Amino acid sequence: MKIAIEIIYLISSILFIFGIKFLGSPKTARKGNLFAAIGMFLAIAATLFDQQVLTFQWIIIGSIIGSLVGIILAVKTPMTGMPQMVGMLNGFGGGASTLVALSEYFKKNPNYPVDQGLVFNLPVDQGIAIILSLLIGGVTFTGSMIAFGKLQGIVTGKVVRYPLQHPLNALLALFVLGAGAYVVINPSMMSIVILITVVSLVLGVLLVLPIGGADMPVAISLLNSYSGLAGSTTGFVLANNELIIAGALVGASGIILTNIMCKAMNRSLMNVVLGGWANAGAAAASSTTSPKGDVKSIDAEELAMLLDSVSSVIIVPGYGMAVGQAQHAVRDLVNLLEKKGVKVRFAIHPVAGRMPGHMNVLLAEAQIPYDKLLAMEDINDDFPNTDVVIVIGANDVVNPAARHDKNSPIYGMPILNVDYAKTVIINKRSMNVGYAGIENELFFYPNALMYFGDSKEAISKLVNEIKNL
Ligand code: NDP
Repeated sequence: MKIAIEIIYLISSILFIFGIKFLGSPKTARKGNLFAAIGMFLAIAATLFDQQVLTFQWIIIGSIIGSLVGIILAVKTPMTGMPQMVGMLNGFGGGASTLVALSEYFKKNPNYPVDQGLVFNLPVDQGIAIILSLLIGGVTFTGSMIAFGKLQGIVTGKVVRYPLQHPLNALLALFVLGAGAYVVINPSMMSIVILITVVSLVLGVLLVLPIGGADMPVAISLLNSYSGLAGSTTGFVLANNELIIAGALVGASGIILTNIMCKAMNRSLMNVVLGGWANAGAAAASSTTSPKGDVKSIDAEELAMLLDSVSSVIIVPGYGMAVGQAQHAVRDLVNLLEKKGVKVRFAIHPVAGRMPGHMNVLLAEAQIPYDKLLAMEDINDDFPNTDVVIVIGANDVVNPAARHDKNSPIYGMPILNVDYAKTVIINKRSMNVGYAGIENELFFYPNALMYFGDSKEAISKLVNEIKNL
């Protein structure tokens, strides 16, 4: 039986690895999801046979409630709410690791619930695994809940400063490690284990609270990685190979994604890991100078006429395209322009929208071929040779202040150089700011024209005007 279960674990680990591999490209992503889901099903089934489960009653009740909540959340959450959802799910992973580590500790401790002075021999490796699970799981749980609150607007999205921020965090982390070492040597100290749990939970809040909205994508992907590490350490607590492997996969892929996001936003990974990245975008939005000048706008008819005489167009999608669900209208626009012989491509910024790959998913949904979607580094040099760039609901990722305004919270973030094109059309509903809360000087540039309106309505109107030409 044991061998059979380990073989099933091995098969499911291989499915996870192929699942992640396939998730690397939009073409194979669905297959990747399916592989990982089958792997998870096998892992859960094998675990239920492996552990000497006395009664399945609570497991079945828990599974039904959990599945119902999961289905409702998945159906109800709009695509634009995915970061919050991912944030919360990371947190649940961390919270589960903490609970499992605590329950394993108390289950093994002969002095629980009342200290009778009995000798408790906890193997060192188990002790280390329990302490690491409590630390990483606790930080992940409360950190993710704060991240969820910030993205949902329940907690302030601004950079929050508090006295002695870094020394305090370092002190708390050192306390957990020191107290953890003490518990590994003297495992019966229940009160210290509880204190370690509480301090880890507090640390999660203190580490994520200072992060401003503009750095949230990095924070979410880092917490995702932490949730994997927490799962992996819990695997050591339970001596479960599958959990160790699956957690390590999430931890490693999460840190790779964090690194990619850091590069995309010009943040240092070390700074992020140490929770000091609030400094990188420390300047308050209000300290930047507001752009001034004339704003020129264009209507659908004029824009259709303009597009009638161009040979190259780059479309830059952003969060507003997702909100307006304009991707299908955008596909119609592409088809019409291509029929007229215009070369149309998409420029995808790595943090456009509200989750990694957000734009790729939406455009794939509208059957826009993958080879038209170009990553920032592959298309940024082409803007000067492009007749018209159409920015649809993007703001921060095309804000030139990132290149030169040292006071801007997004200073240093690589942006799409749309302002280098001959003409830039910006479709959004108003002059409002984007996610980072800063004004965009692009809208005042001489080669910029605002095309106001909801993305879906505006692009559909443009499609009709082009048809009527
Ligand atoms: P922004 O959030 O900077 O701007 C989006 C713009 O879309 C707004 O200015 C808004 O202007 C406009 N908009 C909103 N609704 C509509 C609509 N229905 N029709 C047309 N326009 C609309 O988006 P970007 O994609 O440029 O940048 C993403 C930002 O999100 C970055 O700051 C990034 O750091 C952050 N982020 C990214 C995550 C990721 O993983 N990708 C995760 C979390 C945050 P108006 O109100 O005038 O219409």
